[in-house]
Amino acid sequence: MSVKIAFENTYARLPDRFHSRITPKPVKSPELIAFNEDLAAELGIAPAPETELAQVFSGNVTPGGAEPLAQAYAGHQFGGFSPQLGDGRANLLGEVSLNGKHRDIQLKGSGPTPYSRMGDGRAWLGPVLREYVISEAMYALGIPTSRALAAVTTGEPVYRENGALPGAILTRVADSHIRVGTFQFFLARRDMEGLRTLYAYTVKRHYPSAETPAEFLNAVVTRQASLIAHWMSVGFIHGVMNTDNTTISGETIDYGPCAFLDVYHPDTVFSSIDAHGRYAYSNQPNVIVWNMAQLATCLVPLMPDQDKAVEDFTKLIHTMPDLIQSEWLKLFGRKIGVADASEADEPLITNLLTAMAQNRADFTNAFRALLTNKCRDQFLNPKAFDEWEPGWRERLSSESDPEAVMINANPAFIPRNHRIEQMIQAAVAGDFDPFNRLLSVLADPFTDQPDANDLTAPPEPSEVVQQTFCGT
Ligand code: AMP
Ligand code: MG
Repeated sequence: MSVKIAFENTYARLPDRFHSRITPKPVKSPELIAFNEDLAAELGIAPAPETELAQVFSGNVTPGGAEPLAQAYAGHQFGGFSPQLGDGRANLLGEVSLNGKHRDIQLKGSGPTPYSRMGDGRAWLGPVLREYVISEAMYALGIPTSRALAAVTTGEPVYRENGALPGAILTRVADSHIRVGTFQFFLARRDMEGLRTLYAYTVKRHYPSAETPAEFLNAVVTRQASLIAHWMSVGFIHGVMNTDNTTISGETIDYGPCAFLDVYHPDTVFSSIDAHGRYAYSNQPNVIVWNMAQLATCLVPLMPDQDKAVEDFTKLIHTMPDLIQSEWLKLFGRKIGVADASEADEPLITNLLTAMAQNRADFTNAFRALLTNKCRDQFLNPKAFDEWEPGWRERLSSESDPEAVMINANPAFIPRNHRIEQMIQAAVAGDFDPFNRLLSVLADPFTDQPDANDLTAPPEPSEVVQQTFCGT
């Protein structure tokens, strides 16, 4: 076997109750659909024949040094607490050290684990390609995220509501898969030793300069505030911001029913299971504060004076909305060409957004069109833009190079929902060209690509995606 990965596993060294060791269940006839050569090179994985890559990234062959395991975690799902979740269909092969940082290599869809409950531990091709394309697009947009290393089809059917679908497995890479829910797992069991061990491990791995739980919490809060502001700035809706899908590293993970805004409206929800809009576009800043409060709760028992800890952590959590708001302001300021926006610029931004919502402007295209003086065409009633424009022009007169600021803040290309759905349909029919084309165009989202203008087009009425599904 020529696929060699220099595993250096630390999570596997943690006590037994942190995970369950598993052997990925072999699949019938794995075939490689995608392999991320650039990422592989970063991870020190040398090129190998496709058949061998397919064997490894389907779980059929465990590469030397891997110690496959499913991680235990808990989590609040739509506000309700589950003390026992865990990787029900994922499988951590191990970690690879990169510039002194450890990165997880994980298979998703690799078969049942002790945490699978009623699930089959599998994934079908649709969600695998969806996560592959969207996570790589997020990376190219400069947003912290897990990445896609490989995708394979299994040659086995997976049964879902709509019948038999082609099975697939995604290999993803992240700074870690430690979640808020990992901390909750130990708190729920009153396992203080486990909690302390997890805390020490996580600090060392992600925030080595944090000297106290308060400093650690502050560091996580800072990264998550920045992450959510970045999501907002590209119109990204995660869709399942449960605490088990919220990382400690501050990366986006667990791409399920996520989607990007087409027409801008703050209340937009795509996920079929989000009946009350808990995870709507504009509610994401509120939800992350709530999720960080759950993390804070887990850290209280680590403090010598718990009453004081509750008080201090509460104060810290209460600073988070302002923190998100200031990150948001910086990013949206850049979207309108202001390099370093201050609070005085906020009305200019919110007035534009309000006019966009009232006039069904496409979020991505409206901002991008600020660069070409064609923004007004994005408005149902262009006069709404005309009213906003003079104040904006005046503001820009004191900026040194607004175009340069805007071009790097307003992508031309995002993974549009209808293109993702069309790509999946083609792939199910055996045509992977749309998948490969999306990947290549989305790798360079801030550059105009005239031969890919069809990928900037909003959906025709018949193409509009109304709902997205977890599609597990
Ligand atoms: P998610 O909503 O995808 O973050 O998943 C929530 C929980 O359900 C996690 O514990 C998953 O591992 C588990 N899960 C999701 N899909 C499956 C599946 N097909 N088989 C087993 N477990 C699953
Ligand atoms: Mg999850």
